[in-house]
Amino acid sequence: MPPTPGTYPFDAPASAALFDRARAVVPGGVNSPVRAFRAVGGTPRFMVRGEGSYLFDADGRRYVDLVCSWGPLIVGHAHPAVVEAVTAAAAWGTSFGTPTPGEVELAELIVERTPVEKVRLVNSGTEATMSAVRLARGVTGRSKVVKFAGCYHGHVDALLASAGSGVATFALPDSPGVTGAAAGDTIVLPYNNIAAVEAVFAEVGDEIACVITEAAAGNMGVIAPRDGFNQRLAEIAHRHGALLISDEVMTGFRVSRSGWAGLDPFDADLYTFGKVMGGGLPAAAFGGRADVMDQLAPAGPVYQAGTLSGNPLACAAGLATLKLCTPEAYQKLDATAATLRNLATEALSKAGVPHRVSTAGNMFSVFFTDADVRDYDSARQQDTAAFAAFFHSMLASGVYLPPSAFEAWFVSTALDDEALEIIDAALPQAAQAAAAAAEAGVER
Ligand SMILES: *Cc1c(COP(=O)(O)O)cnc(C)c1O
Repeated sequence: MPPTPGTYPFDAPASAALFDRARAVVPGGVNSPVRAFRAVGGTPRFMVRGEGSYLFDADGRRYVDLVCSWGPLIVGHAHPAVVEAVTAAAAWGTSFGTPTPGEVELAELIVERTPVEKVRLVNSGTEATMSAVRLARGVTGRSKVVKFAGCYHGHVDALLASAGSGVATFALPDSPGVTGAAAGDTIVLPYNNIAAVEAVFAEVGDEIACVITEAAAGNMGVIAPRDGFNQRLAEIAHRHGALLISDEVMTGFRVSRSGWAGLDPFDADLYTFGKVMGGGLPAAAFGGRADVMDQLAPAGPVYQAGTLSGNPLACAAGLATLKLCTPEAYQKLDATAATLRNLATEALSKAGVPHRVSTAGNMFSVFFTDADVRDYDSARQQDTAAFAAFFHSMLASGVYLPPSAFEAWFVSTALDDEALEIIDAALPQAAQAAAAAAEAGVER
């Protein structure tokens, strides 16, 4: 049971007032569910400003930001180079509905950095995965899609099924409004389990259009693929004439200058990107082998389009951000993430809180469990009440963590020594709070 609002020290009157207004006109008061703090209880903070590694809320409080807008803000908030690029682009006009030079430059940069040969720009990660799956179905003439439980690919109808429980399941939709027809061709398998993939391909391999996987899982907490898992997926898919889609919306340009492909390359056919490549504005992309991508309209028959796709402001923000993502930037991100993991481990160990710090490149998360976490089922064994207590203590000390135990913690190049000291100072008390909550949970 998540704690009810009011359980935690309530000292955000301006956010509370805004939340009341929001709830009157926006479902649940938010435009994306996790923002509502339902998993941790309490009132979501309404942020009014970001600067470097800090967020400022409507009550004038400052937080070290370890969410970074859920990944995109790899160079921190309001980086001068990004602000300047966006401002200059806006002054020249916000959208033309025609091809523009900026989108060519961004596409060239993506092709140069990643394994893709051709790329199409869209507006969100959801659009990217939806379009990649359509393309895979279009080129193979097959219907079925294999995904992994706990992997999130945006709110695409066919990909909102994640029901599987250790065995191959023909998934039931996860959300009302997703019809059996939309989810019926989706097969959900346990993550990191090659035997399950082999088994389902042996059964219906000639009906499978594609396998889609997060290049490294970051939406059930962070769980890296087992050694060779991704490449085995590629081999199995290809043996059966199916495509492999590597969803790098979260990992792309974050964990290396290309993404997960830069750390652990494997033979995917299509890739999806988002988050970092938009620099905090709505931009995403899907790309891959030229022969596959050329099946897209107008070059080929598979339809895909977008009024604002390749938007000049979003391209400017993305380009400015990616240009700041130098090898030195990734070294700094890796080092900062390692420092934070060590600090968290030290504080939680000292307080005797069962935990696993789980890492994929510079992304990581803390599972509040003493068992190894390899897939969604094991991730769900964690003590979410301990996380909620930890979260609220950190928040009260001025550190903004993702408000769910199943989300990645994101670092930015803007995290400086002062910010790290604030986190270091906040951790012992938060670990104590988690220990107390874990203890209370055992007694219940
Ligand atoms: C965030 C995310 C998406 C969805 O992107 P949106 O821009 O929120 O639609 C898809 N796949 C992965 C792996 C993600 O992390």
